[in-house]
Amino acid sequence: LTVGNLLKQTAASFPYSEALIVPYQDVRWSYRELDTQVDCLAAGLIALGLTRGERIGVWAPNMVEWVVLQFATAKAGLILVNINPAYRLSELEYALRQVEVSALVFVPSFKSSDYVAMLSELAPEMAGSVPGDLKSKNIPSLRWLISLGDDPVPGALRYGDVMERGDAVSRNKVDELASRLQFDDPINIQFTSGTTGRPKAASLTHHNIVNNAYFTGLQMRLSDADRMCIPVPMYHCFGMVLGTLCCVAHGAAMVFASAGFDATAAMEVTEAERCSVFHGVPTMFIAALDSPGFADRDLSCLRTGIIAGAPCPAELMTRIMEEMHMSQITIAYGMTETGPVSTQTAVDDPLHRMIETVGRALPHTEIKIVDGDGLITPRGTPGELLTRGYCVMPKYWSDPEKTAKAIDEARWIASGDIAVVDDEGFFQIVGRSKDMLIRGGENIFPREIEDLLYKHPAVEQVEVIGAPDEKYGEEVCAWIKLQDGHTVTAEEIRDFCKGKIAHFKIPRYVRFVTGFPMTITGKVQKFVMREMMAKELA
Ligand code: ATP
Ligand code: MG
Repeated sequence: LTVGNLLKQTAASFPYSEALIVPYQDVRWSYRELDTQVDCLAAGLIALGLTRGERIGVWAPNMVEWVVLQFATAKAGLILVNINPAYRLSELEYALRQVEVSALVFVPSFKSSDYVAMLSELAPEMAGSVPGDLKSKNIPSLRWLISLGDDPVPGALRYGDVMERGDAVSRNKVDELASRLQFDDPINIQFTSGTTGRPKAASLTHHNIVNNAYFTGLQMRLSDADRMCIPVPMYHCFGMVLGTLCCVAHGAAMVFASAGFDATAAMEVTEAERCSVFHGVPTMFIAALDSPGFADRDLSCLRTGIIAGAPCPAELMTRIMEEMHMSQITIAYGMTETGPVSTQTAVDDPLHRMIETVGRALPHTEIKIVDGDGLITPRGTPGELLTRGYCVMPKYWSDPEKTAKAIDEARWIASGDIAVVDDEGFFQIVGRSKDMLIRGGENIFPREIEDLLYKHPAVEQVEVIGAPDEKYGEEVCAWIKLQDGHTVTAEEIRDFCKGKIAHFKIPRYVRFVTGFPMTITGKVQKFVMREMMAKELA
């Protein structure tokens, strides 16, 4: 099944069910209305002369147009390239060049940033050019610029102009074209989060993401009775696969609370729209639980959702289940390259599994755990997790070297994550191999120390890294964000650890911080923390 035909089927099955609710844009569309908008934009893109397999970038936060574009590009056979709105010039240039985009859809301004100014710096030719004929020196492949604003931008079309061109094309033509697409055509290029280095361009097919969206929804028992608040970004697979596409696969309604993540707005809209599903990375759940007025909200509407993307501490899981009423919250594990989910808990798993594990392999997915020689480890022995199945991307875009490094001949993709599996097939993520630190020959996984420190009543968030050390190679270093109104000393933190973990795992360095270096997807960048500590200690 292709993404476009999935929407078509859902619109036929649930024509009058709510599809997309975006209060801040005053939008409330049924599946039939969404499908009509999508067809019109698809026709408009075809009318521009964009053809199957061409790349079209989108550089914008969560908004209605993003969703329409997601499905319209799928119907028109174009490859959508998600570009993080937090990217600035050099990152934007890298992304656009890496995948040779033909068109770029952009928001003119967002969060007091002027995107038009940034674009005219990258492509100064736009000032004197006719739309469709950009001739950019920096990005030679780029022909079309499409603005999501109302004001005219020199050299660019407006979103509404493209829709207008679409009006003249028959829906039949769109259907005809969509029917020629194949499920293993590439449909989407997503950049990984850049937690361990420069983001990589994962190329995903219809097959990869349609199935992943469907199976992740099954684990949550998603149906057309559900409404999902999607505070996670659309430019990441969490938003566009586990969020919008998952809703479309099950006829559920999608709800956006704000363009960029805003914990208060997310809680307000969840309450007002009676959302039953809420997704987030762990830091978003922490922010939601701590948002102003949280205790007074009626969140009895909430039921399930997905927490993923980074380790989910047991204490946090318990709070989410109790304080957010999400007794059926599921934990998913995966990576952008696996479309994205490999394992997930299910709503009817035993409680301790739902809190302490990342669940079992999703249906039609294989997972193995191997040692340094690539041999499967005995059950219960940690090793690197590898995934195989329908969800594995065919390649990194135009990067055969990185592809060959990540995916072996038997099509297993390496994750760089260390995991264990128990006798019933439930996985636990021990840590990233790159984050593991070695102190005096002892392998230490930050996760173990973090889990312990989360039990300290004053700790709101803790991240453990290795800091360079002449004697031991690395020393344990903990960055701690305290809960409001608490004060603790480094000595007290160390005392707290004594007797609970081996002496060599007790943090030598404790830093109290107000925040952490983050990817815009909300993940802590430990490599940046390591660089900062190394500088400080040098
Ligand atoms: P990059 O590959 O660019 O360094 P990234 O790996 O963080 O960035 P993503 O593909 O967004 O980019 O994230 C996948 C990674 O997130 C996994 O490899 C894993 O380390 C981590 N992860 C995802 N889900 C979980 C989870 N439930 N528990 C622990 N870690 C998780
Ligand atoms: Mg990765």
